[in-house]
Amino acid sequence: MTDTGRVVIHTGNGKGKTTAALGTAFRALGHGQKVCVIQFLKGKGKYGEREMAGKTANLDWFICGKGFVFNKENIEEDRLVALEGFALAKEKVESDFYDLVILDEITYLPHYNFLEVEKIIDLIRNKPKRLSIILTGRNADPRLIEIADTVSVIESVKHAYEQGIKARKGIEF
Ligand code: ATP
Ligand code: MG
Repeated sequence: MTDTGRVVIHTGNGKGKTTAALGTAFRALGHGQKVCVIQFLKGKGKYGEREMAGKTANLDWFICGKGFVFNKENIEEDRLVALEGFALAKEKVESDFYDLVILDEITYLPHYNFLEVEKIIDLIRNKPKRLSIILTGRNADPRLIEIADTVSVIESVKHAYEQGIKARKGIEF
């Protein structure tokens, strides 16, 4: 049914999960659709996509709290930030304002026991019909994979980083 949004997962260890989601955002925006991106992980550096988001109509971009970083000494703070981010995700999904919501790196919430996977499954099950959701991140829970319509596992064949080459502006961030 064309009117029914899709649930898409990009997982695996290879590069391209977040950028493929953003490519889909670009595609949706081109059709005049409304897109929301929520990022659960805090990355270092000035990400080009975040700069671009501020200049792009119909695209709302949120970094949950300050983002969490898997700070082992302060796991409680990471958990709180993750839960705040999930509350925001729920609000944006339920708003029925968007055509596409991207939950970037959300797979880490159940993986690190910050949130029960059932909460994400409930959110997906109760989403507005027309809404599409993309979930990204490594180690996607099998129960998420099961309820998704489309799942890609991106495999890493090699990555420049492993040869000691630093992250490149415009490619990695
Ligand atoms: P991208 O944002 O480039 O699409 P990704 O979302 O698939 O990457 P993440 O696991 O979210 O990958 O990686 C975060 C950062 O690490 C990004 O800058 C990404 O380019 C880089 N990266 C991705 N895969 C690898 C890898 N196999 N080895 C080293 N660095 C990686
Ligand atoms: Mg990513």
